[in-house]
Amino acid sequence: MTFKSGFVAILGRPNVGKSTFLNHVMGQKIAIMSDKAQTTRNKIMGIYTTDKEQIVFIDTPGIHKPKTALGDFMVESAYSTLREVDTVLFMVPADEARGKGDDMIIERLKAAKVPVILVVNKIDKVHPDQLLSQIDDFRNQMDFKEIVPISASGE
Ligand code: GDP
Ligand code: MG
Repeated sequence: MTFKSGFVAILGRPNVGKSTFLNHVMGQKIAIMSDKAQTTRNKIMGIYTTDKEQIVFIDTPGIHKPKTALGDFMVESAYSTLREVDTVLFMVPADEARGKGDDMIIERLKAAKVPVILVVNKIDKVHPDQLLSQIDDFRNQMDFKEIVPISASGE
């Protein structure tokens, strides 16, 4: 049996459900959690370990539209994380149309050449038809390794 391990960054606009998702994945297995405000350094959000695998979830300082030099620096360090991880989870909500914030992230993800899994969260909030059109819309923007619809809060 081979043991697999990897680094995974979770990206997405505020309020899409990144923390909720991670809390759910970690359950009782929380090793390290940090809810400090954005910093310039990457943070380990949690380490998920089983007999067969270990996944280190990395938080990024947050991707937003920079208005200051410091903001710009923070966004750049978020993007530099993309070069250091094995996979990116790009989380979007099922119930809100793609916006500028998403497009900004998508442009960077395209350039980063890291495998990206699109996680469409909050599927409990929409009709299945709306979920399908949301998936189609994002799928047309870039190639995703996988597309996974979820409800992180379990509703
Ligand atoms: P973050 O800013 O991306 O970390 O988002 P949070 O994890 O803080 O979640 C933002 C809000 O969305 C919270 O009020 C969550 O309870 C809510 N939320 C997260 N996942 C779901 C979901 O699957 N369904 C619903 N209905 N609400 C969710
Ligand atoms: Mg959060």
